[in-house]
Amino acid sequence: MKYVGAHVSASGGVENAPLNAEEIGARAFALFTKNQRQWRAKPLSEKSIAAFKANLDRVGIAAGHVLPHDSYLINLGHPEAEGLEKSRAAFLDEMRRCEQLGLSLLNFHPGATLRKIGEEESLQRVAESINLALARTQGVTAVIENTAGQGSTLGYRFEHLAAIIEAVEDKSRVGVCLDTCHTFVAGYDLRTEAACDKTFGEFDRIVGFSYLRGMHLNDSKPDLGARVDRHHSLGMGKLGWEVFRYIMHDPRFDNIPLVLETIDDTLWKEEIAALYDL
Ligand SMILES: [Zn+2]
Ligand SMILES: [Zn+2]
Repeated sequence: MKYVGAHVSASGGVENAPLNAEEIGARAFALFTKNQRQWRAKPLSEKSIAAFKANLDRVGIAAGHVLPHDSYLINLGHPEAEGLEKSRAAFLDEMRRCEQLGLSLLNFHPGATLRKIGEEESLQRVAESINLALARTQGVTAVIENTAGQGSTLGYRFEHLAAIIEAVEDKSRVGVCLDTCHTFVAGYDLRTEAACDKTFGEFDRIVGFSYLRGMHLNDSKPDLGARVDRHHSLGMGKLGWEVFRYIMHDPRFDNIPLVLETIDDTLWKEEIAALYDL
């Protein structure tokens, strides 16, 4: 069974996100549990938490098909002590918010070296950051997203994801999310069935499908290997439809949230319907 949705708005309160998901025919969704461009946020109120759970129940979406995304400011591989501490504190707060909402996943970008330390050292910091957060929370899995490799960001090679997982102590609470746009601009082709076989085969060898906890379904404005993160609506970018047909037909992508982060939210309803029609 496939669970397709989109990264919906939580404006006005997290409790609105399930309703926004239902409106576009989603069976899964992503959301920010706080403003993603600010460090600090008010704690979630009891009222908001209760309303979120009630609305989730009402729209019939399982907590396991919700893939919250953390703040863009957090850098768990930060080269400097102060930035690292600040990021770790904010990440722990994000994990706790998920815990409070009864959610089991938290999706995040691994981090960036800021060209001040090596990638290997930064990746080890990311893993240690995850260990610290997992030790202080329960029931939430840290879901590392692969990235476009823009600037000094980590996570654009499957080997980066594997290196982080390798150094995480509790392997039962670490997973990955693959973004089709990021995968492609990072240099892994997904334009044909043969290319998908090769890329996902490589992912399985290096990381393993047993760690796959979600997918971001995006077409790409930049070309293969451009290392630039610019999403496009499905079928309108350099990827085309084949990869989405592939994912919708492959049982390795069953039972996990498949989330659109495409650029035109007025198309989400059609895009979700089109994916199910494949
Ligand atoms: Zn993404
Ligand atoms: Zn992106």
